[in-house]
Amino acid sequence: MDKLSVRDARQAAAIGRQVTLQGWIRTRRDSKGGFSFLELNDGSSLANIQIVADGKLANYESEVKHLSPGSSVTIRGEVKPSGGKEQATEVHATEIVVHGLADPEAYPLQKKRHTLEKLREWAHLRPRTNTIGAVMRVRNRISRSIHEFFQDEGFLYVNTPIITASDCEGAGEMFRVSTIDPANPPRTAEGKIDYAQDFFGKPAFLTVSGQLEGEIYATALGKIYTFGPTFRAENSNTSRHLAEFWMVEPEAAFFDLYDDMALAERFLKRIVGDVLRDCPEDMQFFQERVDNTIMAALETVRDREFLRITYTEAIELLEKSGEKFEFPVRWGADLQAEHERWLTEKKFNAPVILYDYPRGIKAFYMRLNDDGKTVRAMDVLVPRVGEIIGGSQREERLDVLIDRMKESGLNPDDYWWYLDLRRFGTVPHAGFGLGLERMVQFVTGMANIRDVIPFPRTPGSAEF
Ligand code: ATP
Ligand code: MN
Repeated sequence: MDKLSVRDARQAAAIGRQVTLQGWIRTRRDSKGGFSFLELNDGSSLANIQIVADGKLANYESEVKHLSPGSSVTIRGEVKPSGGKEQATEVHATEIVVHGLADPEAYPLQKKRHTLEKLREWAHLRPRTNTIGAVMRVRNRISRSIHEFFQDEGFLYVNTPIITASDCEGAGEMFRVSTIDPANPPRTAEGKIDYAQDFFGKPAFLTVSGQLEGEIYATALGKIYTFGPTFRAENSNTSRHLAEFWMVEPEAAFFDLYDDMALAERFLKRIVGDVLRDCPEDMQFFQERVDNTIMAALETVRDREFLRITYTEAIELLEKSGEKFEFPVRWGADLQAEHERWLTEKKFNAPVILYDYPRGIKAFYMRLNDDGKTVRAMDVLVPRVGEIIGGSQREERLDVLIDRMKESGLNPDDYWWYLDLRRFGTVPHAGFGLGLERMVQFVTGMANIRDVIPFPRTPGSAEF
């Protein structure tokens, strides 16, 4: 008897086979004829398979008739053509082994519909729902596409550190990693906490980006990508921010900003194309139950060329738009989500790549343009989500980089190793960062980022 997934047992090709299926009961319906229909799900697909449980089964009265949603079983039987139009097959059970019942009085998912907010309280049970199951299958397909895309493009997977001791940009947003006893910290003569006595002999933090370390490997191996957990202690309770999220960051030597944009466009098209091809059932679910514009939006990304406009052109368009924005539009200020959405949703109805941002709002490592006012930064904006990718061509000129560090209030000595990359065989190079959860949100249409990661960490919330 072959073990089969529900997904495979649902295919007409399985008809006639003796199979073993294992999973969790979604529903049980008893027929007057003295037998029962069970709906079985094992996570391999959105759809369940129907099991016909005959009254003659040895444990029919004692166990099968007590199966309720959430119970776990092993089913042995034969795959037969189904009479129903929803499915090609059903399984006629010859044996049902019950592993665990789920008390219907106590099981939270007994009731069919819960709000996504309510489900967040049950992070240990919510993957058993259709919605979270579909999200996680799509998330998995996206993660696989990320690796496949970069491997196919000749990028090397490099693991950058999660704990970093470089007192990096935006330290205010970083989580400190320390073994110092907060109740009794060692103190310096001035009475400050003495981090020289901490685990690493200096302050250490959780990484906010693997980029700087990625540059080290790109300037030796050519094309690399990192893909791992990233942490930001920003206290922003929005539907697009997590304190712990997954970021993929390619970095490539001898890439300029235009190569970088082209890479980002190929990358997003590849992910979307893979999901549309390989997850039709889950995508149909999102289209019908979550957002009925999602398929059209994805096809747009897959098939339409991304627009490329400069930040300055975008500001002009926003100023001429006649829209009443909550935040005023002004050259030199960061674009707000409402501005990004107007550009992608109202103005162009397509993904837009904005580039050449004012130096004042972008990081020190972005390459300064000849105008002296803008840097070679680019953001990819998509409908609904806004910024999904942020990237740049990096400053490869030692003197300019040092000036930019000082201008940003950083001490170049702290970055001696980063500057060495410019001292010894410097090359033009570029890269970007894509937040995995923003991508999953974009692809599934899920409104809140907390519902596209298994265990969301947000301000005030880390239960599991
Ligand atoms: P935003 O302006 O949206 O806060 P950012 O400009 O701070 O983002 P980057 O530093 O450019 O973000 O990071 C690269 C990518 O990582 C972003 O384009 C986004 O997809 C993702 N990202 C950034 N911060 C978060 C977060 N807190 N939670 C989830 N994803 C994030
Ligand atoms: Mn950004």
